[in-house]
Amino acid sequence: EKMLLDGEMRNRSEIKVEFEDRGYQFGDGVYEVIRVYNGKLFTSEMHLTRLIESANKISIKIPYTVEEIEAQLKELVAENEIAFGTVYMQFTRGVSPRNHPFPSTDVAPVYVAYTKEVPYNGALKPGAKAITIEDIRWLRCDIKSLNLLGNILAKQKAAETGCFEAIQHRGSTVTEGSSSNISIVVNGELKTHPATNLILNGITRQVMLKICEDLGVAYKEEAFTLEELVVADEVIMTSTTAEITPITEIDGQSIGSGEPGTVTRQIQQAFHAELERQCGH
Ligand code: PMP
Repeated sequence: EKMLLDGEMRNRSEIKVEFEDRGYQFGDGVYEVIRVYNGKLFTSEMHLTRLIESANKISIKIPYTVEEIEAQLKELVAENEIAFGTVYMQFTRGVSPRNHPFPSTDVAPVYVAYTKEVPYNGALKPGAKAITIEDIRWLRCDIKSLNLLGNILAKQKAAETGCFEAIQHRGSTVTEGSSSNISIVVNGELKTHPATNLILNGITRQVMLKICEDLGVAYKEEAFTLEELVVADEVIMTSTTAEITPITEIDGQSIGSGEPGTVTRQIQQAFHAELERQCGH
């Protein structure tokens, strides 16, 4: 199995973590996960643009363009013969004796990327259960940072209660899932938190909003409350790995009929058509 280390193709067994890597000690870095369908990277340009934006926001200099990283990742996917799966990549601020301020500018970022196979049958995702939980994260959730403690603690709470996702809220305002964006549908209209510092502007979220435009589903990028969430007709979770997943139960209470709603189903079908269009044979 091959990996990328600083843009070079290497055997996975050769790659070791340096214990003074700032990613390891501080979570000082950024990452992305890109989906592979039929051996092709889905929406990779959007993901890699966000990666570079996240890095810029914390002053990590990525020494490649979107096109250069994309070419490297394509080679990696081909080398590992991944038909369906994901590519994970991260850039840390590099290796330097442990000290909070940034190291000098001659310390290069450390960049790794590797692939994972994910079984895929093309079926629409069935309804999933969620809990609600106070959002205790920092105020720069727009950065796809390696620091995921808040997200992990929320997801663990969901896992402990047999749920798939934890829907976070700041006071009464719903922000996003622990590893996804959350939208509601009320009277046929979709609502989702605006892309502010309080959420990650999900690529799947952006693809979904484009689909809404194409389908003529009205939408508003407007925050909604916990009360609106639990009485919504439909609740939708979006992420690279969960694609478009209907949330059919929250804190033990059914959403709508307890079955995936019609707008959700329409969006799911259009999403599959879109990935076929971009990654089909
Ligand atoms: N919010 C958070 C906190 C996430 O971790 C993710 C998954 N990366 C998302 C939203 C969804 O983003 P995307 O659709 O780009 O995977």
